[in-house]
Amino acid sequence: MKLAAYRSDGRKQLGVVVGDGSELVPLAAAWKGEGAAPTDLTDLIERGRDAVRSIATEGARRLRVADVTLTAPIPRPRRNVFCIGRNYAEHAAEFAKSGYDATGGASAHPDAAVFFTKPPSTVIGHGELIEPHLKVTSELDYEAELGVIIGRGGRGITRGEALSHVWGYTIINDVTARDLQKRHKQWFLGKGLDTFCPMGPWAVTADEIGDAPLDLRCTVNGEERQSASTSDLIFDIPAIIETLSAGITLEPGDVIATGTPKGVGIGFEPPKFLRPGDVVEITINKIGVLRNQVGAGK
Ligand code: MG
Repeated sequence: MKLAAYRSDGRKQLGVVVGDGSELVPLAAAWKGEGAAPTDLTDLIERGRDAVRSIATEGARRLRVADVTLTAPIPRPRRNVFCIGRNYAEHAAEFAKSGYDATGGASAHPDAAVFFTKPPSTVIGHGELIEPHLKVTSELDYEAELGVIIGRGGRGITRGEALSHVWGYTIINDVTARDLQKRHKQWFLGKGLDTFCPMGPWAVTADEIGDAPLDLRCTVNGEERQSASTSDLIFDIPAIIETLSAGITLEPGDVIATGTPKGVGIGFEPPKFLRPGDVVEITINKIGVLRNQVGAGK
């Protein structure tokens, strides 16, 4: 099932995306569960995986997705978005070669997963503008990533149990100011600026995604930049959850960005940084397309 968060008549709502993705059923019209329908995805997630069984879209009124304003599926996560760096071998190699990795990434293949986070204020939805922050950075870059949404929380989650803690998936653009990432020798600042975490266009439940690897594709103004399979992840989703949860209790609604494949802007010579007006489109099969334009800036 695909769950979208949107605004309609100024109110926050959830909807079930149906058909080819061009229509949605307001959750309020499809909710057969107890009490009022949740209007926040984290609330729905906290009710457990079975809560989606209380949703029946048949015969319910539909809206055109184009007629509502989508927000990120979790527009303001309760805490930072967890992220993994250098998690595809070919990207780790291009990053090491680019000279932008100030964290000692001479080795293309990390021995242990590299973690950082993005604050909740980075999150924007499909169609919202990425701020270019022209006074702060002149090296704006994109990173197409699969986002994992945690369902059941826990600490000390083993590899074997990990996928049972996944509620679903979404698409994330780990927007990065490369000059800040390099200058400050730590990734939080360069990846933590407002609007630097486009997320969406919606969330898809784990059962609808299944176990097969997913294909990621990223274009900028229609030009293909990234194309890869999640089967190429160095640290796969169970490994990420096992490592992260070893000492940090994961909570329902936590979001994990799993890393980006090769083809980011600094992978090219000369680098291809984003400019105001550029359109970044990330497609992951079984999920959809996350599209964001870079704003004009102030
Ligand atoms: Mg990234």
